[in-house]
Amino acid sequence: MNDDAATLLTAPLVRELAGRLDVRPTKHWGQNFVIDPNTVRKIVRLAGVGPADSVVEIGPGLGSLTLPLLQAAAHVTAVEIDPRLAEQLPRTVADLAPQLRERLRVIPQDAMTVTEMPDPQPVALVANLPYNVAVPVVLSFLARFPTLQRVLVMVQLEVAERLAAGPGSKVYGVPSVKAAWYADVRLADRVGRNVFWPAPNVDSGLVAMVRHDPPATTASREEVFACIDAAFAARRKTLRAALAGWAGSAPEAERMLRAAGVDPSLRGERLTIDQFAAISAQRIG
Ligand code: SAM
Repeated sequence: MNDDAATLLTAPLVRELAGRLDVRPTKHWGQNFVIDPNTVRKIVRLAGVGPADSVVEIGPGLGSLTLPLLQAAAHVTAVEIDPRLAEQLPRTVADLAPQLRERLRVIPQDAMTVTEMPDPQPVALVANLPYNVAVPVVLSFLARFPTLQRVLVMVQLEVAERLAAGPGSKVYGVPSVKAAWYADVRLADRVGRNVFWPAPNVDSGLVAMVRHDPPATTASREEVFACIDAAFAARRKTLRAALAGWAGSAPEAERMLRAAGVDPSLRGERLTIDQFAAISAQRIG
């Protein structure tokens, strides 16, 4: 990234912008703004955004991340639910870095309802996500926008650890397995709460994802995800018992598990995404 200081919002500038707009950060929309330029630099570096890339940012807020992303990328599409922030963002960019204004598009909308992106289609999703919608937003963007090759998101540390967990880990669960359908996922770094204003009462993690081909299976993604949901809804049960309802009966669950080469006495927390895909492919009719 070209380290242009004009694109890095410092703590006083973030507060001044908020004051000018009379923005009082609301918990409802998870509004914790980044006030630390080093954290912003790290996010942009880890996102690996290059000058030919089109990027989507969810929840640009006051623009802490948007400005350096505009500097690094060809285009940034920013999806912001708060109408005041969505309206102000182009003005902030025009004031602070007018040469970058052309590269910005704003979609003033709930990210969960966005179905289309302006061309050129985004190759990277970069965001400091509102905590309450972090997992559904990431998973649904990967599902809806197949051009996305890379994701770099800052989320609550606990959520970051869950997303990046592998089979057998205590925090391995539905988000981990579903994320693994789409991508290689890793916890790239931890971030303290003091880089935000206002400071939340939890630390954060940076999650890096690189898309890979989905598992080779005759089952659809929806079918595999239903199997994962069933297995983890009864986390403490063996797969034979946990998948009985989903498969139709416990013997049928056992047949499917054995056909997929999975021990029916295991629990879902030990299975890889490929194994869930193999089990789902055994469904008849
Ligand atoms: N990116 C800014 C930063 O790093 O300072 C703000 C991050 S703040 C944690 C989350 C942002 O997401 C807020 O601007 C909030 O208004 C916005 N937001 C919350 N829920 C949203 C949703 N469902 N769709 C789009 N934006 C949302």
